[in-house]
Formats: sequence, C-alpha cells, structure tokens
Amino acid sequence: VTGIQLVRGRAVLTGRPDQPEVNDGAVAISGSRIVAVGPSSELTTQHPDATQLGGDDRIVIPGLVSAHQHGSGASSVQLGCGDQPFERWLIEMLRIPPLDVRSDTAYHAVRLLENGITTTIHSHYVRDPARYDDEVAAILAGYRDVGTRVAFAPHYIDRNFLTYGDDEPFIASLPAELHKLARGLCVPPIGLQAYLDLVVDLTRNLDADRERALFGPVAPQWCAPDALEQIGAVATTAGLGAHLHLLETRAQRAYLDREFKVSIVGRLDEVGLLRPGVSLAHGVQLWEGEIALIAERGATVVLNPGCNLRLGNGTAPVAALMNAGVRLAVGTDDMTLGDDDDLLGEVALVAGLARSAGVWPDAAQLLQLATVAGAEAAGFAAEVGTLEPGRRADIVLLDAGRIVEPALTEAPSMLELTMARARAGDVREVLLNGQLVVAEGAWRGDRAGLVAAVHDAAESQTAEPSHARLVEAVGRIAAARAAWNGAR
Ligand SMILES: [Zn+2]
Repeated sequence: VTGIQLVRGRAVLTGRPDQPEVNDGAVAISGSRIVAVGPSSELTTQHPDATQLGGDDRIVIPGLVSAHQHGSGASSVQLGCGDQPFERWLIEMLRIPPLDVRSDTAYHAVRLLENGITTTIHSHYVRDPARYDDEVAAILAGYRDVGTRVAFAPHYIDRNFLTYGDDEPFIASLPAELHKLARGLCVPPIGLQAYLDLVVDLTRNLDADRERALFGPVAPQWCAPDALEQIGAVATTAGLGAHLHLLETRAQRAYLDREFKVSIVGRLDEVGLLRPGVSLAHGVQLWEGEIALIAERGATVVLNPGCNLRLGNGTAPVAALMNAGVRLAVGTDDMTLGDDDDLLGEVALVAGLARSAGVWPDAAQLLQLATVAGAEAAGFAAEVGTLEPGRRADIVLLDAGRIVEPALTEAPSMLELTMARARAGDVREVLLNGQLVVAEGAWRGDRAGLVAAVHDAAESQTAEPSHARLVEAVGRIAAARAAWNGAR
C-alpha cells in the first residue's frame, strides 16, 4: 500500500473521550496505521491524491472486540445441540463432531469480521483431545487465513468433567453400557507441565502484530487448586495474562463455596489470577465483596448476556459491576441472543441490564465496552480500540442511511443514535490493518469455498455410524446429568 487512504463518514466515532465524534469526518491511513482523524474537508485538502472510501452514507467506528468466544463456525444449534439448562447443555455439546478445525475457526472469524469484530479473545475448548497440539496450530492458522487479531487462550481442564464433584458416583449410576464412554470423557486433554510449556512456547512463535497468548484455565471448578496455583505462578513470572470462565451458574457458585469455604475470587487473587491482563467471563454469580476486589485489582469481567439468558443462567450484576468501577468488556461466546454473533446487540442487552438496576451508561461508555475494554483484556490496547493517530487502521463503516432514516433534524448526537440503533447487519465495510477485508457486508476472501469446507466436514463426520451412536449415548448421559443435578 502506498500513499494515503481516506475513510470518510457522516460521523467518525473515535472512541476517544476528548473528541468522541467528528461530524463529516475522515480517518487518514498510511499503510496499516492511522495518521490523522479530523474534518473531512480538512483532510481532503491536505491529501488531494488520497484514495477514498465511505462518504455521507457511512458512520465510521473503531473495529469491535469480542472479548470471549470459542471459535465455533457452525453453531451448536445448527449442529443439533439446542439450548437447554447449562449443566445438561455442556454434556450435550459433546455430540458435536470436531469438524475441520482450521476452516471452522476461519469461518467463525469471517462471521465476526462481517459483524465488525476485528479483535477477539478465543477461549479454547478441545474438540479432539488426541490432537491437542495440532488443534492449537489449526486454530491459529484459521485466524491467519482471515487476519483477525486474536488473543488465544489454550484449554486447560483436569477435573469435574461430568459433575461438580467426584464423577465416579455419577458414572456408576449410569447404565453399564455407558460406563466406558463416560470414563473416556473424564480424561484431561493435556497434562499440567505440558500445558505450561505449550503456552510459554506459543508466545515465542506468535505474529506480534496480530496474535497474543493467554493462559486458559477454563474455570476454577474444572481446574484442581494446585493447577490453578501453578498456572497463576507461571503466568505472573512470564508476564502473561489469563482468560477464565467464572461463576457462570448457580451450581458452580454452590460447588466452589463448598470446596473453598472462602471466596473463589479471593482465591484467584492469592494465586496471581486477579490483576490487569486477566479477564473473567460471565461473573453471573459474583457477590458485592468480590466485585469490589475485582475492581481494586484491575481484572476485567467479560459480560455475555445473551448466552446467560439462553442457557438459563440469569443475568450478571451489571449495575453493581459498573458502580464499583470494574473494567467491563463484552463477548459473543458463540451464543448471542439471536445466534448471530452480534456484539452490538449484546452491548444493548448490557445497557438494558444496567438500566434495570438504576445505572445509565452513556453512549460513549457503551462504545467503550465493545472496543477499548476488550482490546485491553486481549492485550492489544496500544494498537487498537480507538481511532487516533498511531493506532492500527482497524475500522468499521456502518450504513448511516438505515441508522438515521428519516434523518430528523432534532436527532441526538450520531454517537447516541449509533449506539441505540446500530446492529451487526449495518456493517458495510471493514478495514483490518488498513486493508479492505469486508465490502458490501461480505468477506472478500473465498467465502463460498470456506462455507463448503465447513459443510463438507460436518456432513462427512455426522454421516459416520459412530456419530449416531455418540449422539444417542451423549443424549442419555446428558439426561441423567439433569436428573443428577436435581437430586443434589
Ligand atoms: Zn464461554
């Protein structure tokens, strides 16, 4: 790329507190970086030979950040795992075949990109434990195919695979013909030392422009206390962040309270997993005192309101988190309310939850939830999140026509209008590192080829006779798990 590129909009929403919106504005880009943001007339005069993108029919915003997702291209509902109570759902999810990890990840990244999401935290779950290392490589390759910035948190789990507590009594309660399969589901996909080495190694081979590594102990109920302790120690020594699920369901709260007797958040603090660079997904069941401690330590809570509603987990204490000054980001979690990975829709849900408890975030704060806060949690705060000189040119152009029609003169600021009305479907163009990667709402790569690859892998794997047997067995284990939960 040579010369200057100007991205113009009826409004440029910068995400910067000192200059939140520039009406009839433009962003000047040189190569992959932003060099200026200002009035369109000024920048056009300064750069008469610049190539131009956008215009009056666009609103320009920073690339969005989904700070929690799992990279499922084909969604769980599309693969036959319908929404149901969380603990049962988690077992039912085991029916989903591994697919082709690289194409499925790339397809997910494309869907995010087409929704304006240019940076993300990928919370890994293992699809095929026998291929752990290959999978890590395939996931990163999937993101490289698309160009999305990713903070990747490889999966670590070592206990409570089927229940919260010793799995053996539950397995013993199942019909004998299910014992072998159930026990097979209770094997850690990777040992602790191999895991620690893998994450530290990963940091040496990343593309510094677009990739970060985080530790990914999935959640305290799924990691033995000594494993959490070691992960926390190595992460602190290596200067690495971490990304965990935390207190997503009532049953998790009850289990962790039983196990630790003290607050699990205090426990995370003791092991070095409550600090800047650490992000905690969900936090539905957090207590007031825990919220205050998270705020004090500077860790981020990533809200996933659609997922929590879909799986019956209720709502996070959004107002209390905001009042306490906790850093908050938002994730799509492969489970947005409309099963569409619409981050702006999730931000609207967050706003509604806050207001329901008497806290009224303004439009600038809402934009920040979807951009700066996630960039910080993902380790890209110096590169993306706002539109200002020096930042990477990750830029989204929205359809201004749909958002402003019928263009009333009494309209509020474009920032307010955009945060109230914009949704994923309004994304028209996306630039990543200054390159146009989405045009007319669609990824410019081989989209049809990618969809076909995902489809073909799903078709062939689900056609295997062993798949039908797995679906049947997993369905029975999931049903038994629901009854077991009720019995506790
Ligand atoms: Zn999740």
